[in-house]
Amino acid sequence: MSKYDYLIVGAGLYGAVFAQEAARAGKNVLVIDRRPNIAGNVYTEDIEKIHVHKYGAHIFHTNDKKVWDYVQRFATFNRFTNSPVANFRGELYSLPFNMYTFNRMWGVVTPEEASEKIEEQRREAGISEPKNLEEQAISLVGTDIYEKLIKGYTEKQWGRPCTELPAFIIKRLPVRLTFDNNYFNALYQGIPVGGYTGMVANMLGGAQAQTGEDFGKGAVSVASGSIEVHVGVDFFDSEGAPREDLKALADKVVYTGAIDAYFRYKLGYLEYRSVRFETELLDKPNFQGNAAVNYTDSETPWTRIIEHKWFEFGKDDEGNDIPKTVISREFSSEWKPGDEPYYPVNDEKNGKLYEEYKKLAQCEENVIFGGRLGEYKYYDMDKVIDSALQMCEKENL
Ligand code: UDP
Repeated sequence: MSKYDYLIVGAGLYGAVFAQEAARAGKNVLVIDRRPNIAGNVYTEDIEKIHVHKYGAHIFHTNDKKVWDYVQRFATFNRFTNSPVANFRGELYSLPFNMYTFNRMWGVVTPEEASEKIEEQRREAGISEPKNLEEQAISLVGTDIYEKLIKGYTEKQWGRPCTELPAFIIKRLPVRLTFDNNYFNALYQGIPVGGYTGMVANMLGGAQAQTGEDFGKGAVSVASGSIEVHVGVDFFDSEGAPREDLKALADKVVYTGAIDAYFRYKLGYLEYRSVRFETELLDKPNFQGNAAVNYTDSETPWTRIIEHKWFEFGKDDEGNDIPKTVISREFSSEWKPGDEPYYPVNDEKNGKLYEEYKKLAQCEENVIFGGRLGEYKYYDMDKVIDSALQMCEKENL
C-alpha cells in the first residue's frame, strides 16, 4: 500500500484546489514544489507591507459563479477593478479599447462616430476573414489603434511578428463603445485581501509548508483526509527524469509542471515565453498612479510596469499613506531551459507538438496532467480552478 493517495507536483492553483478536494473526499495527499514557497505563479510576497505579485500581476476575474463562490471559501476579495493605462511615447490611453481611448485617439465624441472611424479603417485594410493577430486586431479596432496600442506591445510580449501570432490572443481584450475602463468583461473581480499566498495556504488546509524531504510529518487533517506540503523538493532527478522514489509514495500523481519537461523533451521543446521582473522599492508614495501601465511602443524594452500597492484597493486609504512604493518592470523573453516558463505559445506548430505530448501523457498510467503548464494552455486563474474541479469530479472526489 502506498503511503499517500495522491502525490501532487506543484503547489500552484491547480495543485492546491486538487489537494483541497481530494482531502475533503478523505484522501491523503502529499504536495511538493520545487520552489521554496507555495502558490506557484500567484505567489505574493510582502515588501514594506505591500503584497508584491512576485511572478507577475494576477487579477482574479470570472463569469463563473461556481468558481467565484469556491474562492470565497479561502479568501476575502477586495473590489479591485483592473483598468490599465497604455503609454505610447508619452501619450496615455485608456484600456481596454473604449470610448475614452477612441476620443483620445481620434477626437470622436459619440459611439456612432467611433464606430464609423473603426469601420472606415477596417474597409481600407480590406480584411474579410482575419487569419492572424494583426488582421484580427485591425478588424476589431482599426489601424491606428493597432499601430499605437497593439503592435509594439504584442511583438515585445511574444517575440514574434503579429502576422505570425494566433488571432485568439487579442480576442482576450474587450472593445466597447461605452465609457468603461474595466479591462475584463467579468461579473466578478477582485484580489484576495492579504495576497494570494494566504488563499493558497488555506486551500492547502492551512498546512505549514515544510522544507525538504522528511515526508510523513506535519500533515494537516482536512475533513477525513489530510494534506502534507513540502517545498524545495524537485520532482526531477539530476538527469531530468521523474523520480521513481517519489512516484512510489502515492497511488496517483497529479503533475502540474511543463508537460514536455515530464517527458524529458523527447519529442522536442514546446515554446514558452518567460518573464524577467526588475523590482524596485522606491522612496515615494506614488510612482505611476495606477496598478498597471503598459508601454505599447516598440522601443521601451519592458512591456509594462506594475505598481503593486494599487492592487490593494480599500487598504489604508488605497495605499496613499504608505510612504514607499514597489514597482516591477516586466521584460518578456523566449524561454530557454533553466528559465521559468510563463506563457505557452499556442500557435499551430506548438499545438501540433503538444498533441503528440498529450498522447504520451494519456498512456502514462496513474498520472494526471493539469494546469497552464501541464496542459500547455493560456489559462486564466478561474479556468485553472474550474479545470481542477472538473478533474476532481472525474476522479470521483
Ligand atoms: N495587448 C496589447 N496591448 C496592450 C495590452 C495587451 O496589444 O496594451 C495584447 C497583447 O497581444 C497581449 C494580449 O493583448 O498578449 C493579452 O493581454 P492580457 O493583458 O490579457 O495579457 P496577460 O495579462 O495575460 O499578460
